[in-house]
Order: sequence, then C-alpha cells, then structure tokens
Amino acid sequence: MFIKEKLAAIVQSLPDTVTLVAVSKTKPIADLDQAYGEGQRIFGENKVQEMTEKWQAMPKDIEWHMIGHLQRNKVKYLAEYVALIHGVDSPRLLKEINKQAKKHNRTISCLLQVHIAEEDTKFGFDEKELLELVDNEDFKSFENVKIEGLMGMATFTDDEEQVRREFKNLFTLYKQLQSKYADFNILSMGMSGDYKVAIEEGSNMVRIGSSIFGSRN
Ligand SMILES: *Cc1c(COP(=O)(O)O)cnc(C)c1O
Repeated sequence: MFIKEKLAAIVQSLPDTVTLVAVSKTKPIADLDQAYGEGQRIFGENKVQEMTEKWQAMPKDIEWHMIGHLQRNKVKYLAEYVALIHGVDSPRLLKEINKQAKKHNRTISCLLQVHIAEEDTKFGFDEKELLELVDNEDFKSFENVKIEGLMGMATFTDDEEQVRREFKNLFTLYKQLQSKYADFNILSMGMSGDYKVAIEEGSNMVRIGSSIFGSRN
C-alpha cells in the first residue's frame, strides 16, 4: 500500500477524540509530502536537526512535535517553531524550554513524560517525581511553558495485558492531575504496535510511524 492509503485507513479508524501524530523520523521529505497531501498536518520527529530541516523545507501550516529525548543544549534550535514537546523528563529541561520560549516571545506546549514501562531503558518521571514536580513553586512560575498533559511509552512486548496495565496506570495518573490542573487535556500514548489498546485505555493522542510510512532502517 502507498503512504496515503495507509494513512487514510488509520485516520478513518481513529475516534474523533484522538489526534494523530504522524511519526516521520528518518523518512525523506517526499514521504512527508504524501502525508501532507492527504491532509496530515501534525508530524512527529525525534531528532532536533532533522526536524528543523524538515520545518524549513515544508509548508508552514504544519505542527511539529518533538517526540524523542530532548537535550537541554538543543532546545534553542526548535524553540522558534515547535508546537508540542512530548518528552519533558526533568525540571531542568522545563526551565530551559521556558527560557528559550521567552526569547521568542512564545509559550511552548509540553507534555511530561512518565516512565510506565517495566523496562528501565526508557526516559521519564516516576509517579512520585511527577507529583513532586507539579506541586513545586518553580513549576508554577514558568510563564512561557504550558504543560498540557502526559506522555508515556509502554513496554515493547507481545504481552497485551502488560501493555494495557501500563496504559491504565498512566490514564489514572492523568485523571488525577487533570482534576487539579485545568490545562491538562492531552494524554499521548500509543504507537503502531499498541495504539488500539492505548485508545481503549483513554489515549487522546497517538504517535504512529511505521504503520504509515513503513519500517525504518
Ligand atoms: C518512533 C516513535 C514512535 C513511532 O513508532 P512506530 O512504532 O513506528 O509507530 C512513537 N513514539 C516515539 C516516542 C517514538 O520515538
């Protein structure tokens, strides 16, 4: 199947409440153009340089989402244009995003990444760190960042019940914080292999790459 057909099939299968981030990392602009031609306007990348090059080359009505691990010294390169940073995983990173956003006179939307997987290779806050962070005074003083919700990645496994359990935990945490912070409205969970389960467990933003663009090398 062509990219546009795969994309259309996925878009059609998603409930209206779920936003699709088309994960285009490693893929050439020609591939993104096809998705753009089908109406896709949100793209996710995990490398700052690659995303910046694509931002420069492509139409300006695209929302660029940084979905990968972001180093503090790279924030300055995307602060001008990034629409949503999914992987905020430390207070220091948040502080740097606030600083760079201020320089560009913008407010940058962010998601806090929560470590939900049993594997210990993935980045993110644990539940205790997250609750500490959101109660911290510094956190409330960041005027140029808007924390809009949470992001998480489940364990890479065939065990669907485990994946479901991890998503359920993240959803519970999300609801808990939503009752305190009105700005919380995004729960980014689900990728090609597990987005259906993620949606059943309350996701409203899925990050799908290989099911649209094919596998990466
Ligand atoms: C690459 C990536 C995805 C997309 O993965 P697919 O399995 O290709 O859909 C989603 N989220 C993050 C954080 C990623 O790095």
